[in-house]
Order: sequence, then structure tokens, then C-alpha cells
Amino acid sequence: MSRYRGSVCRLCRRENLKLFLKGDRCYSDKCAFDRRSYAPGQHGQRRSKFSDYGIQLREKQKVKRMYCLSEKQFRLVFSKADSMKGITGTNLLVLLERRLDNVVYRLGLACSRTQGRHFVRHKHFLVNGKMVNIPSFLVKVDDVIEVREKSRKISFIDDALSSVVRRGVPQWIELEKDNFKGVVKNYPVREDIVMPIQEQLIVELYSK
Ligand code: SF4
Repeated sequence: MSRYRGSVCRLCRRENLKLFLKGDRCYSDKCAFDRRSYAPGQHGQRRSKFSDYGIQLREKQKVKRMYCLSEKQFRLVFSKADSMKGITGTNLLVLLERRLDNVVYRLGLACSRTQGRHFVRHKHFLVNGKMVNIPSFLVKVDDVIEVREKSRKISFIDDALSSVVRRGVPQWIELEKDNFKGVVKNYPVREDIVMPIQEQLIVELYSK
């Protein structure tokens, strides 16, 4: 599966939004989007006009990049959301939020989703006492996510935990910072996802 290996800051500039892909750097004055908030490339500063399709495509790309997924992975999540009861767009966002790599990031146990995925893949986490190394694992209410005993000394996890105050932990999960663990209190609701996302545009795009 192909993976984007270029500069992730270019993605923020392309989507005209801070996607917070680089941890602490995103909050510093080194943030590329804060310094050059226009699209990358030679013609980046030109005003671009998008068609309806273009607007829908950009919205999908934005969310896909925010959660660091490939097209295939994103499409699979969408299919699952579409087959569920309720509003497809909301289902999509809720499923994305429930991914283990995202929950690890949201709890502050990783400084970005990419790092969260990396940590999960490297078996640093237990879910309800069992090791889970699948980033797409969907957490459920009352699940307990914790850092493995022998992984608690990893300085990156400590660093992430010390900077979690800045971005806060959403109300649907609870962090027990001293115990390196978090609990899923509820499923996230639409209001918990505060990034500017128009999920209906993604539904329209995939419904064509
Ligand atoms: Fe985006 Fe973070 Fe890079 Fe800023 S530092 S452009 S928010 S990835």
C-alpha cells in the first residue's frame, strides 16, 4: 500500500487548514502553515476556484489526511459507516475517532496520530489488559487503554503526556495521567469533533 512520504506540512498548506500532523511543532512558531498559509508549489499563491466536485474532493482529502489514512483505508471506513444505521457522515467521523491510533493521540499518549499508530504497531499498548497492535482497532465504551509496563519509560510518551494539557482530552474519554491509561466513557458524538469538517460533502462525493 502506498504511503505519502513527502512533507506533511505541505498537506496542511494544500488543505488550507492546520491538520496537526507534527506534534509539538504545530503549536510552535515553526509551523509552516502559520508562516506560509497558502498552497504549496509555484502557483500556490494564485486564487483557485473549485468546482462542486473539487470542493467535495478537497473535503475528503482533508479528513483522510487528518486521520493519516490511505484512500483504500478511508474508503473502507466509509463503507462501514454507510452500512450502519444513522447519518453516514456522522458515522464516518465517529468510526474515525474510535480508531485505537486516534484514541491514543486524543488521550495524549502520542503527540500525533502518526506517532500513535507507530506506538500501537510497536505493541506499546494494552486494551483491557491484552496487547493490541492494530491501529484500526475500534474502541468500545468502558475499554481501558494503557501503556505497557515496560513501555512507560519511553521518553516520547512522557513528552506527549506533558503537552496534552495544551490540546485537552475530549469528554468521551478520560485520562489517568499518572497511571498511563485512559478509559472510554462514551462513544464520541458529532459535537466532540471540533475541527471544521463538512462530512456531508464526503458522502456526496462517494455517492456519485
Ligand atoms: Fe501542519 Fe503541524 Fe506542519 Fe503546521 S507544523 S503545517 S500544523 S503539520
